[in-house]
Amino acid sequence: MKRITIVLLVTIMGGFIVSCPDEKTPNHSHNWGDWEVTIPPACVEKGEEKRACGGCGEIQRRDVAVNTSAHKWGVAIPATCTEDGNSTGDCELCGRPASDATIPATGHNYDNWTEISAPTVTVDGEEESICTHDSSHISKRTLYATGTLGLVYTLIDNDRAYSISSRGTVTSGEVYIPVFYRPDTDSDYLPVRRISYVNPNTDAGVFSNQTEITGINFLTPSNITNIGAATFLNCSGLTKIKIPARLISVGGNAFAYSNIIFDVTENNIFSVIDGGKGLVRNNTELVSYPTATDSIILPIGLTSIGYGAFMRCKNLVNITLPAGITIIGNEAFRECNNLVNISLPEELTSIEVMAFYACYSLTEISLPTGLNEISGWAFMGCTSLEEITLPVGLTTIRNWAFNGCTSLISVTFMGTITEANFNSNVPFPGDLRDKYLAEGGGIGTYTREAESDTWTKISQ
Ligand SMILES: [Zn+2]
Ligand SMILES: [Zn+2]
Ligand SMILES: [Zn+2]
Repeated sequence: MKRITIVLLVTIMGGFIVSCPDEKTPNHSHNWGDWEVTIPPACVEKGEEKRACGGCGEIQRRDVAVNTSAHKWGVAIPATCTEDGNSTGDCELCGRPASDATIPATGHNYDNWTEISAPTVTVDGEEESICTHDSSHISKRTLYATGTLGLVYTLIDNDRAYSISSRGTVTSGEVYIPVFYRPDTDSDYLPVRRISYVNPNTDAGVFSNQTEITGINFLTPSNITNIGAATFLNCSGLTKIKIPARLISVGGNAFAYSNIIFDVTENNIFSVIDGGKGLVRNNTELVSYPTATDSIILPIGLTSIGYGAFMRCKNLVNITLPAGITIIGNEAFRECNNLVNISLPEELTSIEVMAFYACYSLTEISLPTGLNEISGWAFMGCTSLEEITLPVGLTTIRNWAFNGCTSLISVTFMGTITEANFNSNVPFPGDLRDKYLAEGGGIGTYTREAESDTWTKISQ
């Protein structure tokens, strides 16, 4: 054992100080040169350096410690259309990502579009483009069905949508309302959201009075949210309409004086009654009932009769409004020439402008005690109405409310209407307003001879 130890010691020491084995340089002391790196250290691997003896040429080697910042970066990763690249790859030794030198994705570049199929009035077309960065990238986009050509569009909603603002040259046949519109191929497609109310002074809606229009079709999925007032007024050729899925609001008289039956299967806000004859919004507002005939009893749950809901329903004879209705809207029963009887609920508070205008056959109407306002022209031209009792709660009578009621010969006031709320623009034929407001007037019954302008108070 002792011998082995000595041999090992000699072997280890020998290289350093003992002697040079070369016979030509016996017994010299080594003359070491400088250390020089032979294998540089890396992030996870140590390196090596060496030095040589100038006398005997002997070489010594030793490790160089790991250098944690000496990574061996991989090859660069080019950016693509959709993925970022990098100026180097990850470190091949330790895997450290070379995140400092990201090259952003280039994005596709679709410059030239080629039509594959042209859109028609009712069917979408398609176009495609090849990415100039990578010809394996092909993009397709829809060329939206045009809808009926000839309609006029106006930008709305801060130039983010279109409204159909005029029928333009469209006056007959089946009409198709597009989902999107663009005026030319350089413009973006924008949703068609509204059909405008064109001219408030003439009751002209976009398609009003176009009796030769036979159908209105909203291409799906329609973006229409609003149908303006009077849009389809007097479109007598229209027999059905599928309410578009996103429709929220309908302007007054939009479907009035038509023959429309409603289909609401795509919409959550609107529902129908009487097999589609009546259109209801939010389960409470009777929007339209243009085909009403004979005798009708409306369902419980409604709270208002919408603007023009029964306008010019010439074959409506009797109607019962359910408990809970508080408002009869503008023109609701206007020109219902054959309406003889209407039963009003106790909850009714307001009869709005022209609600019963020119209901020539209305002979009798019982106004509920809670009614507080009769608006302008409300019963104007009801030429068969002979007597009326104005309930105790009634506080306001507006312009021309009973003007033109040529047969009206008996009016009973149950309550007090102040001069300010008893409009001076001929609310009754003759001098009834003056007599009511004069000393000795007020609550009571007033009569006149037929066609006389002079009224006489006959009882308190
Ligand atoms: Zn030496
Ligand atoms: Zn590394
Ligand atoms: Zn691309």
